[in-house]
Amino acid sequence: MARYTGPSCRLCRRENMELFLKGDRCYTDKCAIKRRNYPPGQHGQGRTKTSAYGVQLREKQKVRRIYGLLEKQFRGYFQEADRMKGVTGENLLSLLERRLDNVVYRLGFASSRSESRQIVRHGHFTLNGRKVDIPSIQVRVGDIIALREKSRTIVTVNDALEAVVRRGVPQWLELDRDGYKGSVKGTPTREDITTPIQEQLVVELYSK
Ligand code: SF4
Repeated sequence: MARYTGPSCRLCRRENMELFLKGDRCYTDKCAIKRRNYPPGQHGQGRTKTSAYGVQLREKQKVRRIYGLLEKQFRGYFQEADRMKGVTGENLLSLLERRLDNVVYRLGFASSRSESRQIVRHGHFTLNGRKVDIPSIQVRVGDIIALREKSRTIVTVNDALEAVVRRGVPQWLELDRDGYKGSVKGTPTREDITTPIQEQLVVELYSK
């Protein structure tokens, strides 16, 4: 599946907030938002007028970039969320949160979602005992995600597990650090997603 391969920090600068796309670097003074807190490009420091449409567009781009999705994939999630019962915006966030690559990141096996996507792609995990390599798989309540035996010496994974204390594991997941596995205890609620996201703006944009 295609993915964005350009500079990550540029995306944060465009959205004018830390999206934490680069793992440990995001927590240091090297973070581009701390050093150059203005939009990228030649006219980045120029005057900007933002319309209502512009605000909605920026919010959608922000959410899409946090989860590392391209427009077509993201719109697909919106359409699925719209078909589900309940509040569309919350359904959308729930679908995004339950992606396997996000769960691996949330459990602390990777320091960023792009890193987690890569280690999932490379087949280092099992889902309920079976090897998986599809980052977009939706996890369900009761699922067990485990790092394969032969992958437990990967330095970046162990470093990420050391650092997970800083981020914390959300309530709907449970990590067994010594066993290199995690489980899905429930479905993510709106309160579990602490990133400042106004999902209603995304719904408004796509409902035009
Ligand atoms: Fe964003 Fe991280 Fe780059 Fe900072 S270091 S701008 S949070 S990707």
